[in-house]
Amino acid sequence: MKIEWALNHMPVVASLMNNCKKEKPFEGITISAVLHVTKETAVLVKALKECGARVLLAGSNPLSTQDDVAAALAKDGIEVYAWKGETEEEYFWAIRKIIEDGNPDIVIDDGGDLHVTIHKEYPQLAEKIIGGTEETTTGVIRLKAMEKDGVLKYPVIAVNDALTKFMFDNRYGTGQSTIDGILRATNVLIAGKKVVVAGYGWCGRGIAMRMRGMGARVIVTEVDPLRALEAVHDGFDVMPMDDAAKVGDIFVTATGNINVIRKEHFLKMKNGAILANAGHFNVEIDVKSLEALAVSKRRIRPYVDEYKLPDGRKIYLLAEGRLVNLVAAEGHPSEVMDMSFANQFLSVKYLIENKGKLEPKVYKVPHEIDSEVARRKLNAMGIKIDTLTEEQKRYLESW
Ligand code: NAD
Ligand code: SAH
Repeated sequence: MKIEWALNHMPVVASLMNNCKKEKPFEGITISAVLHVTKETAVLVKALKECGARVLLAGSNPLSTQDDVAAALAKDGIEVYAWKGETEEEYFWAIRKIIEDGNPDIVIDDGGDLHVTIHKEYPQLAEKIIGGTEETTTGVIRLKAMEKDGVLKYPVIAVNDALTKFMFDNRYGTGQSTIDGILRATNVLIAGKKVVVAGYGWCGRGIAMRMRGMGARVIVTEVDPLRALEAVHDGFDVMPMDDAAKVGDIFVTATGNINVIRKEHFLKMKNGAILANAGHFNVEIDVKSLEALAVSKRRIRPYVDEYKLPDGRKIYLLAEGRLVNLVAAEGHPSEVMDMSFANQFLSVKYLIENKGKLEPKVYKVPHEIDSEVARRKLNAMGIKIDTLTEEQKRYLESW
């Protein structure tokens, strides 16, 4: 039912699936995928299977799997190795399982752990891989570093870098679902709170914008002068974390970086400060030093851990410092994943159609795919736009 609900809100993926159900362009192809096991991912992997592929799936975060979705997928013939609450060891066991059992032709990843595990532990299997895709900013950064070091063994399409992905998923998706996660975990009132957003990239912009919409007084921290300047002109207060730490009620990290909130900041925070992460793995908030600093720790409610500092102040960490939107809520809404996963679907098709022609590099999503996704989405939303007249085309091309 949940998956059906998602499918009804994912018209672009649904139309792509319906178009190729008959020809089955993925017949004979094995796909190993590491994605958050959500109802939206279910729609994608079922579409890939419907179009002929064998699909093996592992979770993209130890805490983000929706167990009911995993069970439903297993019933439908997807080989799923994921459950909510995996240990770090079990998380990597599942990734190794879909590599070994699948011996895949195509790999789909979200965060880079699948690509890195293949390159480090299964280099012999990498030779056979036609290509891969990558869903998120941090994964693309890791893959570009592999390309730069000359170790990348197969072509990868950076799905994250499609305009119809990051402008919508990272901004509006993270903007809404991060607040959803914080509210489901805490049910605190946002209005009137000082919310500190670390990082004013695509995710940070969305979170700051939506927090303001709910009445928060938003402070942005940045390291990039251009992004900081943009945040100032968007009307936000900008200051270093050292200063923000003293005044914030709720802190949200979305930088893709490590130890953005660390010991020196915890020591300055107000009693009752709430910390959440919407970015990279569980490294943006330095949880280890918070653990070391605290004299006691207890679970107050699901996804809310209270850390008592030596002077009696209490700090609340949500979702163990992992992606709050996927751990404490359901991740991005289906409508936005529709575009991200349409890019995944079309990128997989592109890799198969161009088998042997691509070098082991990180490729952008071809512009035609991006435009196709935008066109189909507008169409599904019933929105028509203008077309250039011949006179306008000539005008725009002339000097
Ligand atoms: P981005 O590159 O657009 O933005 C990151 C910003 O953080 C940059 O402006 C950078 O200057 C800033 N930054 C880096 N170090 C910083 C520091 N120490 N203090 C303050 N700012 C700092 O990236 P993005 O697309 O916004 O993605 C951010 C992270 O969120 C990535 O790890 C990405 O994988 C992840 N992500 C999560 C979700 C989700 O569902 N929660 C969705 C999309 C992306
Ligand atoms: N393994 C990394 C993954 C980063 S997650 C980690 O745990 O930190 C960020 C990605 O999650 C985004 O790029 C977004 O496309 C994806 N995501 C967000 N909501 C989702 C949903 N409902 N279903 C599947 N993926 C989702």
